[in-house]
Amino acid sequence: MAKAAIIDGKAVSAIVKCEIKNTVDELAANGKRIPCLTVILVGDDPASAVYVRNKVTSCGETGILSRQIILPAYTSEEEILIKIDELNKDDSVDGILVQLPLPKHINAEKVTKAIDPSKDVDAFHPYNIGLARLGEETFEPCTPSGIIRLLDEYKIEIAGKNCVVIGRSNIVGKPVADMLMKRNGTVTVCHSKTPDISFFTRNADIIVVAVGKAGTIKGDMIKPGCTVIDVGINRIDGKLYGDCDFDSCAEKAAFITPVPGGVGPMTIAMLLNNTITAYRMH
Ligand code: NAP
Repeated sequence: MAKAAIIDGKAVSAIVKCEIKNTVDELAANGKRIPCLTVILVGDDPASAVYVRNKVTSCGETGILSRQIILPAYTSEEEILIKIDELNKDDSVDGILVQLPLPKHINAEKVTKAIDPSKDVDAFHPYNIGLARLGEETFEPCTPSGIIRLLDEYKIEIAGKNCVVIGRSNIVGKPVADMLMKRNGTVTVCHSKTPDISFFTRNADIIVVAVGKAGTIKGDMIKPGCTVIDVGINRIDGKLYGDCDFDSCAEKAAFITPVPGGVGPMTIAMLLNNTITAYRMH
């Protein structure tokens, strides 16, 4: 029996989308240009197609205009760079997102760097990563900022708390660790070379797991009353699981995010938020 309160990412993402819709409605009522997100999908990876479709649908729910550019898998790097250059110069486009992963013959780093930083709504451009590291105003990467919004919404204090982040990727682990530190959490980052993760998690008030391996965190590794944020997405026999053993963790934690329905919906909501930020910059 779960004792932990469930952190409902669907409900919080609905609140964020409602805020965005109000902003867009106000712009429309004042006869202003409507924010626009352009998503580029290269190839026919089915998971990427679903992600792009969800992003486009979410734009529709908030009134943000969306454009999809769907290119065949054999598209050259040069052609993608030319397309990005056109979008960079297009004043009607606020945000540009290139759905990852890209086909192997395309250098994803080069493509990411080609996006105008002021349209980089994924916040993957080194310029924006640098600004964020310095604590300056910029786009915040979507999944980490969604996590912070969940903690805020459930009034989970970060300042002075022991925060343990498991995973050190550029898109989740590192930026979420920075954001928790910016909010005065005491942050420890664990990774695949950490010999005993439970040494850290047993003393953690907030645990963020972004590893991509089901069952990484179990109930006997956590402290009673802690908060568990599960970023992982693991598809096993057609079913989705996070990185935590949900039942045993929910038995001990005070708050926990489910998978699906926890962090996932927040990522898209924060992408739309970044599109509004980009619009304001422009
Ligand atoms: P990633 O780039 O593969 O990074 C995984 C991290 O986990 C690495 O830092 C790795 O350590 C660490 N790791 C691997 N095995 C470990 C272990 N046994 N113990 C401790 N650490 C371990 O993955 P990612 O992009 O951050 O994504 C992580 C998970 O989150 C995936 O399941 C992904 O699908 C999911 N995700 C979800 C969302 C969402 O919106 N819900 C968004 C992004 C990602 P090393 O650095 O030492 O290799």
